Amino acid sequence: MAGRRDKDESDLDSDSGTNPQQASLFDHILKTSKLFNEKSLSQKTKNDLIKIILELQQNIGMIQSEMVSIDEYGKLEERCEELQQKSVCLEAELMHVKSLKYDEIMSQKTPSYSDILKKAPIPVPTKQINEQTIIIKAISPINSTEVQCEAYDHIKTMQNSSNKFKINKIIKTKTGMLIKTPMNENIDQLIEEFKANDKINHTSYIYKSKMLDPTIVLKKVNKLTDPTSINKIICSMNNQLENCEDDIKVLFPIKSQSSCQDIVLRVSPKVYQIINKTKQVYTDIELINVKDKVLVKQCQKCFQFNAQHKQNDCHHNFCAECATDGPHKCSHNLKCINCSKHTNQQLKQHCDHKANSPQCPLYQTQINRTKDRTCYALIPPNTSPDPGDNFSMNQ
Ligand SMILES: [Zn+2]
Ligand SMILES: [Zn+2]
Ligand SMILES: [Zn+2]
Repeated sequence: MAGRRDKDESDLDSDSGTNPQQASLFDHILKTSKLFNEKSLSQKTKNDLIKIILELQQNIGMIQSEMVSIDEYGKLEERCEELQQKSVCLEAELMHVKSLKYDEIMSQKTPSYSDILKKAPIPVPTKQINEQTIIIKAISPINSTEVQCEAYDHIKTMQNSSNKFKINKIIKTKTGMLIKTPMNENIDQLIEEFKANDKINHTSYIYKSKMLDPTIVLKKVNKLTDPTSINKIICSMNNQLENCEDDIKVLFPIKSQSSCQDIVLRVSPKVYQIINKTKQVYTDIELINVKDKVLVKQCQKCFQFNAQHKQNDCHHNFCAECATDGPHKCSHNLKCINCSKHTNQQLKQHCDHKANSPQCPLYQTQINRTKDRTCYALIPPNTSPDPGDNFSMNQ
């Protein structure tokens, strides 16, 4: 198929590096793109948002392509920082707009982007990397509002008693709510607290969201190295990884024509932390580099992200470049099938990218979701820490 890329290779695009600055930029792109749906934002503000997003994406794309010189890199980073500041200001404005009553909004002149820059206090962006999540989900969707109210009541009661919990964020969902807490809170105990409330326990499921183990990629591993036993090899070749074979699962090598190949691994947070210190490991042949790799589940035939959708059953065959279904002569004009069909006009208008590239805001959202669900460091909870608890090879 013209323009189609190899399935394994497409995963390469999710290789988004670990640079914390980049990570926080991605976060801002995500948040900023969410602002579009806000009806009370003026067209001017929306246009400013688009500009910021496009420029951020372009810069990140360039940084990621690793084609830039150190000099250019510095400039790009500086510019990204500036843009990030701007998007933070816009976020602050949105919060402000949201907090106003409808009629107040109507009677007010919508502030321009430059007004916002002048007035808005610049909040310090914080990124909670290590969070754990409790999901409260109404058994019957009709009860979701009721469940939310009960849960809020219960949280208030708890926080007024001796059983206080630190909660980072409560997110209402269609079926109930998500409660995010710092890693060092005893989440099991918190779940028990909710279960002890009959009203909540009888109307909802209460459970811990499963965290993923980090995925990494060993770069340019000589093909003479056996990929299937690479976990044993690196553990025997690197003292710091001694006895960690079971904490490393070989996922797949990425097809390549050369004498080397990249190998994708899923590792426990413990191994991730060890490898992250040096970002290099010895194989049985040579020293190789290790990079972060965020895997995004996406059908490579129709490019949808639905986790339940099976690629083997997919009836489509969309071109990764021009989004045409089935055999065709490819124009190579980039068109993202997801953005081009999206109800959001801004996404629709800027769909000249591949659906499986980090340049796609929707793809980027998926990367961020995976990152949010990944446990990169194991901070033991207050009670008996059990590293095995957070580590499963079957993900
Ligand atoms: Zn499909
Ligand atoms: Zn095509
Ligand atoms: Zn797209």
